[in-house]
Amino acid sequence: MGKLFGLVGHPLGHSMSPLMHNTEFKELGLPHHYQPFDLKKEELEEGIKALRLLGIEGFNVTIPHKVSIIPLLDEVEQEAMEIGAVNTVYRKDDLLIGANTDGQGYLQSLLKLIGEDSLIDKKILVVGAGGAARAVAVSISRSGVGSLTIANRTLEKAEELCRVCSTYADVNAIPLDTASSSLETYDIIINTTSIGMSPETDRVPLPVKGIKDETVMSDLIYNPLETLWLTQGREQGAITANGISMFVEQGALAFEKWLGIKPDRYRMQETVLRKLGGL
Ligand code: NAP
Repeated sequence: MGKLFGLVGHPLGHSMSPLMHNTEFKELGLPHHYQPFDLKKEELEEGIKALRLLGIEGFNVTIPHKVSIIPLLDEVEQEAMEIGAVNTVYRKDDLLIGANTDGQGYLQSLLKLIGEDSLIDKKILVVGAGGAARAVAVSISRSGVGSLTIANRTLEKAEELCRVCSTYADVNAIPLDTASSSLETYDIIINTTSIGMSPETDRVPLPVKGIKDETVMSDLIYNPLETLWLTQGREQGAITANGISMFVEQGALAFEKWLGIKPDRYRMQETVLRKLGGL
C-alpha cells in the first residue's frame, strides 16, 4: 500500500526534496508519495497533529521549524539533541521520532570526497556557527577528528557550539578574521555560512590566499553549483566540492530511516543536478 511522506517548512517553493524522493519511489517501483506541507510558524502544532491523523510515515523538516518541531515529537535521537535540530522524522509504532541526517549526510559526503574512512588525522576549519554548522561540527566531532576550529562572525555562537563538540573532540572557537590569517593550518575548510549563495554570488566567506596545496574546500551551498569562493580555491589548487552531495546524502539517510532500504544515491544526485542545470 502507498505510504505518505513529506516536507514541513515555510516557504517551500524551491525545495528539491519532493522531486528527489518521488523520482526515487517511482524508479524503485514503490507506490509511495512525498508531499510538501507549507506550514507557517503559528500552524506548526496543528499541522503536526493533522499529519499524525493522516498516518504519515515520515517527513523532513526545514527552515524555520528544525528547532521548534522538537517539543511536538515523542522522542528525539541523541545526535539530533546535541545538534539542537531535527531534519527528519520517522514513525516507530505510533510514535514520531526526530533525527538529524544533515550532519551524518555531510560527514559521509566528505569522507567520500577525500576517499578515506576517518578524519582522525585532519585539521578542519568550519566557517559559520548557524544551524548547518551545528550539524556538521557535531557529527564530525562525534566521528573523531584531529582538531576542529569553528570561526564565526558572532564569536559567542562559535564558542557555544565549541562547548557541545568538546565532549568528543579537540575544538576551539575563533573570530572570522583570525581564521583568514591562519589558513595554512587546515587540511579541510568548510563554508557553512550563506555567503555566496544566490543572488549574492559575488561575495566570499573568507579569502583563499594562504591555503596550502590540495586543501579540501567544501561549500554547503549548491545554488550556484560553484560559488565564487570555490572558483577562487580551485584556481589556487584546492580540491573543491559543493553542497549537492550533502543534500543527496541527508535525503538518502532519511529514506533509509523511513523504509529500511538503500536508495540509489547516484540516481538521486542526477535528478537534482538535472533540475539545477548541472547535467
Ligand atoms: P543560519 O542558521 O542562518 O546560519 C548562517 C551562518 O552564516 C551564521 O554563522 C552567520 O553568522 C553566517 N553569516 C550570514 N551572513 C553573514 C555575513 N554577511 N558575514 C559573516 N557571516 C555571515 O543558516 P543555515 O541554516 O546554517 O544555512 C547556512 C547555509 O548552508 C545556507 O547557504 C544553506 O543553503 C546551506 N545548507 C546546505 C545544506 C545542504 O544540504 N547542502 C543543508 C543545510 C544548509 P552569524 O552567526 O554571525 O549571524
